[in-house]
Amino acid sequence: MTLLRNIVILTGAGISAESGIPTFRAADGLWHEHKIEEVASPQGFAANPALVHKFYNQRRQHLLTPEVKPNLAHFALAKLEREFQGQVMLITQNIDDLHERAGSRQLIHMHGELLKIRCTQCGMVTQITDSITEESICQQCKAPGSLRPDIVWFGETPMHMTDIEEALLAADLFVAIGTSGNVYPAAGFYQLAASAGAETLEINLESTGSNFGEVRIGSASQVVSQWVEELISDSGNIK
Ligand code: NAD
Repeated sequence: MTLLRNIVILTGAGISAESGIPTFRAADGLWHEHKIEEVASPQGFAANPALVHKFYNQRRQHLLTPEVKPNLAHFALAKLEREFQGQVMLITQNIDDLHERAGSRQLIHMHGELLKIRCTQCGMVTQITDSITEESICQQCKAPGSLRPDIVWFGETPMHMTDIEEALLAADLFVAIGTSGNVYPAAGFYQLAASAGAETLEINLESTGSNFGEVRIGSASQVVSQWVEELISDSGNIK
């Protein structure tokens, strides 16, 4: 195995499926009770803020139930960050906080976070565990009705793209875990990393048919744990 120095990992909804959070494309789950543009677009929010708040309030309350907790895949990635000699950067499309709860620290939430709200008037971002409504007031500027989920909706630009592109260009291994490769720009990350010389690995329940150098099929909890053990048992990669 080549000695790795820079690993960039992209995670999607599939890594949290075994934690009890339905994926976007799963046949069940909250997403399918609504049209995507109604609850995950700026136009949908403008048209019916009450519906959008209700949708994210439900998802936030579900995330905070005791049954939802990090699984072996989240813990394995946190272990990799602690024990790998070199850089491990985690980029997640997920809006849950399961990577943090498992102990990951080098983490970018490119699509925002369910446990944060943003004021559209003053820009203040605040941690939140309660529900918000159209009447909720910004704690900083006191503007009423100005709060929105701090989430990147369809048609909006993902967060931290400069840092992400820098990391992808410096990566010598890029790994995509539990993502369908349908949502851009994340779906193009493996090509950017590969064009700059990185090896590429996909871990998924089923192949997405993308052109990764290696594909490992199986549930994230099993395959990610095994892959991490392989990497850190290579003595050249242990801190
Ligand atoms: P997606 O739903 O489009 O795809 C999920 C992928 O995960 C599929 O390729 C599926 O085969 C795979 N998968 C399912 N179960 C798996 C398992 N146990 N192990 C390994 N792989 C598994 O999700 P996406 O690609 O992340 O894109 C959807 C968008 O919806 C993202 O922007 C994301 O922010 C959002 N979303 C987030 C959450 C979350 O925060 N947990 C949940 C649903 C959707």
